[in-house]
Amino acid sequence: MSIVNDKSCSWINDLSSRANIKILSQDKHCDWLIIGAGYTGLSAARKLGELHPNKEIILVDAQQAGEGASSRNSGYLVDTTLREGFASNKDLENFKKKANIYELGIQVVKKFIKEHQVDCDWNECGKFYASSNNKDESILKNFSETLTKLGFEHNFFSNSELKKRLGTSFYNIALHTKGGILLHPGKLVRAMIDTLPENVQLFENTSLLKWEATNDKVKCYFKNGTIHSQKIIFATNGFLKSLGIKKNYNFPLTLTASMTRSLSNEEFKSIGEPKEWGVLSVRQMGATIRMTKDKRILIRNTAEVHNPLKMTKMDLDKRSFKQKIGIKKRFPQLPDDIIQSSWSGIVSRSRNSSQIFEKIDTNVFVAGCYNGSGIGVGTLFGEQIAIKASNESSNEIDIIERREKPTWLPPQPFLNLGVRVRLMFERIRSESDL
Ligand SMILES: Cc1cc2nc3c(=O)[nH]c(=O)nc-3n(C[C@H](O)[C@H](O)[C@H](O)COP(=O)(O)OP(=O)(O)OC[C@H]3O[C@@H](n4cnc5c(N)ncnc54)[C@H](O)[C@@H]3O)c2cc1C
Repeated sequence: MSIVNDKSCSWINDLSSRANIKILSQDKHCDWLIIGAGYTGLSAARKLGELHPNKEIILVDAQQAGEGASSRNSGYLVDTTLREGFASNKDLENFKKKANIYELGIQVVKKFIKEHQVDCDWNECGKFYASSNNKDESILKNFSETLTKLGFEHNFFSNSELKKRLGTSFYNIALHTKGGILLHPGKLVRAMIDTLPENVQLFENTSLLKWEATNDKVKCYFKNGTIHSQKIIFATNGFLKSLGIKKNYNFPLTLTASMTRSLSNEEFKSIGEPKEWGVLSVRQMGATIRMTKDKRILIRNTAEVHNPLKMTKMDLDKRSFKQKIGIKKRFPQLPDDIIQSSWSGIVSRSRNSSQIFEKIDTNVFVAGCYNGSGIGVGTLFGEQIAIKASNESSNEIDIIERREKPTWLPPQPFLNLGVRVRLMFERIRSESDL
C-alpha cells in the first residue's frame, strides 16, 4: 500500500521542510513498534520514551510523519460537539462521558505546548455553531439546554451580531461555546516530531504491508525489511480498516478542504476586519469555515466514501470549486481567485461516533477512530494507550474506558451503500449551508 497525497496543503506548506528523513532499509528488532506518526502515534512514542528510556522504540509512517490528517485538519480543538437533543438520560450520560474525554484532550495538548514552548497559533476564542436557516434555532436551543445542564458556558448570536463578529451576513443564528480552541494543526504536529525522545527511531515513507502476531512477538513486513517487536501500537486512524484492525467497527471517510491566500488589507477592510474565528455548521454536512489569525479563510464542506489512498488532481479540483462557491456565498465582495490550496485527508468513523482504545491481542494495542475530532483526543489516546500497553493504570484510562464502545457495522457492500445514502441525505439537509 502506498499513500499518495496531494502536495498542496497550506498548513504543511507553512512549515520548513524537514531533513534526515530515514526510510527502513534492513531488518530490525525492537521492544515497541508504533505504526502511524500523527498525533496518536507521536504521542504514544513520546510517552513510551518517557516510561522506558532504555528500551528500543520504533515509529513508522507510510508518508512523512505528521503529513496525514494531523496536519490537514481544520484546527478546532473541541470541548463539545453538537447534539440535537437526547432521547434518554443514558444519551445525556454518554454525551457527558464524551465531553470529559474532550476536556482531557484539551488539557494534554495544553500541557504539551507549555512544556515544549510550542507556538501553534493557540487561540482560546471558542467556536460558533452557525446556520443561515432560522429553522435551526430549535436545534441550537436543544443543544443549549444540554450545555446548560452540563455547565458549559455559551451564548446566542443574531444575524447583526454575527455580521460584526464574522464579517459576513450569511448566518442568521449561532451558538458560541466558550471552551473551544483554534490552532495551527501543522505547527502542533511538527512540534511533536521535533521533540521525540532520543530512544525513538523514526522511519518515514515506510509503509506497513502485512503483520502477524505470534504468542510473544509481532512481525511486520515492509518493502525493504521486517521489524520484529515485543509489542505493537496501531495509530493509523483512517487506515485501521485497511490493515484489518477492528474492521467491523470503523470505516474511513475522505474530507477535503481549501484555504485562501492572506486577504489584502483592502479585502480585509471590506469584510470589517474581524478577529480570528471558527464556525462549525449546525447541519452535519454543512461547511466548517474559519478565519485564521493571518487573514486566511479555510473551508471544508465535503465528506465522502472515497478511495482513501489517493485523490486525483481532477477530483480535488471539483471539490475545490465547491469550496470556492462556499466562500463566495459568504463573502461576495472578495475576488474569485483567492484559493491558494486544496487538499484531502482521511478520518475514521464509527457508527455511534465512539472512539477505539483497546488491546486487541496479547501484544497488540490500538487507538483511533476519532470521528473527525482527533486533535485533543488523538494526543490523549496516544499517551494513554502507551500507558495501558505498559500495564500501568491512570485516571485518564478509567475515564476513557467508561465511554460508550463503537457498535458493530454491517459488512461490505452494505456498509458503503448505507454510508453513501446517509451522506447524501445529510448533504441535502445541509444544502443551504454548504
Ligand atoms: C479536512 C479535515 C479536517 C479535520 N478537522 C478537524 C478539526 O478541526 N478538529 C479535530 O479535532 N480533528 C479534525 N480532523 C480529524 C483529525 O485530523 C484526526 O482525527 C487526527 O489527525 C487523527 O490523528 P491520528 O494520529 O490518529 O491519525 P493521522 O493523522 O491520520 O495519522 C495516521 C498516520 O498513519 C499512517 N499510516 C496509515 N497506514 C499506514 C501503514 N500501512 N504503514 C505506515 N503508516 C501508515 C498515515 O500515513 C498517517 O500519517 C479533521 C480531519 C480532516 C481530514
